[in-house]
Amino acid sequence: MSRTQPHYFGAGPALLPAEVLQQAASDLLNYKDSGLGLGEISHRSALAVNVVDSAKATIKQLLTVPDTYEIFFLQGGGTGEFSAVVYNLLASFALKTFKKGRADYLVTGSWSQKAAEEATRLGVDVNLAVDARKWSADGKSYGTIPDPTTWTLGSAADTAYVYYCDNETVHGVEFPYIPEVPEGVELVADMSSNILSREFDITKFGLVFAGAQKNIGMAGVTVCIIKKQLLGRLREDYLVDLGIPLAPLVLDFPTIVKNNSLYNTLPIFNVHIVYLTTQRLVDNGGLKVQKAISEAKAKKLYDALDAAPKGVYNCIVERASRSRMNVVFTIPGEGREKAFLDGAKERGMTGLQGHRSVGGIRVSNYNAVSERSIDMLVDWINTFAASAKT
Ligand code: PLP
Repeated sequence: MSRTQPHYFGAGPALLPAEVLQQAASDLLNYKDSGLGLGEISHRSALAVNVVDSAKATIKQLLTVPDTYEIFFLQGGGTGEFSAVVYNLLASFALKTFKKGRADYLVTGSWSQKAAEEATRLGVDVNLAVDARKWSADGKSYGTIPDPTTWTLGSAADTAYVYYCDNETVHGVEFPYIPEVPEGVELVADMSSNILSREFDITKFGLVFAGAQKNIGMAGVTVCIIKKQLLGRLREDYLVDLGIPLAPLVLDFPTIVKNNSLYNTLPIFNVHIVYLTTQRLVDNGGLKVQKAISEAKAKKLYDALDAAPKGVYNCIVERASRSRMNVVFTIPGEGREKAFLDGAKERGMTGLQGHRSVGGIRVSNYNAVSERSIDMLVDWINTFAASAKT
């Protein structure tokens, strides 16, 4: 079973490494000679439990997750986590303070905006500690991470958590650092589109989550890493008295963790893809190596865009916050973006259209995108720019 390796730059679902797909295809048919495929075995079987444990172990190894943290899998995607964060982090805070906490959101793009909107919808007192739109020329665009001295963070006495999105997939804005938060306030990160592209210190976080379908697997499962201390709970009638919404059981972190992510039917095949993807990264030398690869590929793209004659390409995001994973730009001039996309397609490169909400061009540079694909694209960026000049 094989295919010609595609030069595909889609933002998600995204490309998976060919070796991972080949192994997965075989395991979908007949897993470990059991006579059944991974989409067919019981999620309660020893084989399935082993898949879950193996995926947890490789994630633990790659990210150096200490024993004070739990790794688990949920369904509901990144969007499910926007709600799960609210239920679970407010409940953790209530155990500590016997209060309903507030929440700070750092809004730097459409995904953190959506998360803040969901928290508001669920009745959280949300403080937009950062609203990056206010710092743009037109007052409504994303493309910057405002300086931390301007952030309006609450204190541990009343703030349950600070939430941010480490890499804004639509707008191409990525944090080059881990935000500093007041002592005692839990930091929550959505790393859906840049997890496993670099190392980070998990002990700075209360919770990190990532939908799998970009850098870690395929749609259907979300990876969560939580500080174990946050799994304690007050009695549910106390939570209700405090006005804290009760989590549906499928999003209730203590329930999921207590059952090793198998409280209800987990898509084991998808978890296996996570295992295969993470094991491949371990075999390739871990996240230090992957970070260097990601940075080198992103640099080639930005260097080519920056070297083009002025006005050919317009990189909207400020330099310090440019995403290594989603390189976004526009091409001014009637029909120019279409010409760029058409030319790319003729050369075998697809998935370059910007998100429907913003348009333009978006190059997703996830782990599975090869250096060869990037080189081909850089070549086209240069050729297109040269033709634009003449
Ligand atoms: N967070 C980020 C950073 C994303 O890029 C996405 C989807 O692309 C989501 C959340 C939402 O994920 P889902 O579609 O799995 O709900």
